[in-house]
Amino acid sequence: MPAFASAPAPRTNEIVAAADLPAFHGKLLGWFAEAKRDLDWRATRDPYCVWISEIMLQQTRVAAVVPYYRRFLERFPTVNDLAGARIDAVLRHWAGLGYYSRARNLHRAAKEIVSRHGGEFPSRMEDALALPGIGRYTAAAVLSIAYGAPHAVLDGNVARVLARLGAIRGDLRRPRRWRALSAAADTLLPAPPEAVPRAGTPGDWNQAMMELGATVCTPRAPRCDACPVSRWCRAHALGIALRLPSPGRKPKPVRLALSAAVLLDPRGRTLLVRQKSAHSALFSNLWHFPAVQSAQAAPEKLAAYLRSEFGITAAPEPLPPARHTVTFRRILLAPYLVHVPKLPRPKSLRTATVRTPRLADLDRLPISSATKKIAASARTRA
Ligand code: SF4
Repeated sequence: MPAFASAPAPRTNEIVAAADLPAFHGKLLGWFAEAKRDLDWRATRDPYCVWISEIMLQQTRVAAVVPYYRRFLERFPTVNDLAGARIDAVLRHWAGLGYYSRARNLHRAAKEIVSRHGGEFPSRMEDALALPGIGRYTAAAVLSIAYGAPHAVLDGNVARVLARLGAIRGDLRRPRRWRALSAAADTLLPAPPEAVPRAGTPGDWNQAMMELGATVCTPRAPRCDACPVSRWCRAHALGIALRLPSPGRKPKPVRLALSAAVLLDPRGRTLLVRQKSAHSALFSNLWHFPAVQSAQAAPEKLAAYLRSEFGITAAPEPLPPARHTVTFRRILLAPYLVHVPKLPRPKSLRTATVRTPRLADLDRLPISSATKKIAASARTRA
């Protein structure tokens, strides 16, 4: 058993002793060169492609990102193409990936890159951080991978690896602890390859740390027997890997219902709205069916809304419900079908906030997965 097994946990920024760093770097980088997954964005150092991949990968699984990444770059191959596109086209290529503010910020940032940085993703940290939707993690990832800049990344995966290597207890998301982990990540970053031959670039190092967290040092089943750096790992030596990191406080789930009306005319057309309302964020502020929010399914409340906004008096006919989750919100989607001879004109909504596509063609508009689930339910009866 390593000598440190019974020793107190190290200070956060001394997770691996300085004398051990060359061997630690060699082990992890060697493993990464052999074991890394073959992912599209690893075949390029183009800052634009790296940036798109890093934004898409935020809170989204790799397998889900791959087809979106390919389609997105096919449609917007350069930052100029993205900056010049209409926001609806960008959102349509994002539809289903969730967290749509990422797409809106990408679009805004692309315009800034074109207007202020000559179409090149900025290489200085402060310039990158000034772009919409770019935080410390994304800036460090793009600058290190695309430009070889010496910035260490710290995301949930890397923080977990560091917490286990150093047997660090407590909620990692506490600001002080997160800052200390960030300093520890900086300390572990290898010196530039020109100073230390075979050290790997900062981008390689960051990707190796993230890959270890994503594929070996996973949250619920760390594979310590396959881990290239297990000999430096305190949590492994102490037999507490599974107990770290300590669970943070999670917000309590909130349950609510969205009752939505699928208006349908004889030609198969329906009506979608896009307006700022209490519940529009639950549809990612994209096109959605007219809806009301309540604690449970509320056909009477929906009928009253349809009467007052659209002058519709027909009773909504219930469709199969669906479940939907947005962060900590557990949402019951309660769709209702309303056959109308002619799609109505809303009383208070502006024309620009209403669309009347065919129910079969909704995908031509940017819509959220909640709207897709409601449409799928309606198609079972329409
Ligand atoms: Fe994670 Fe286990 Fe490797 Fe430690 S030895 S870093 S707990 S996989």
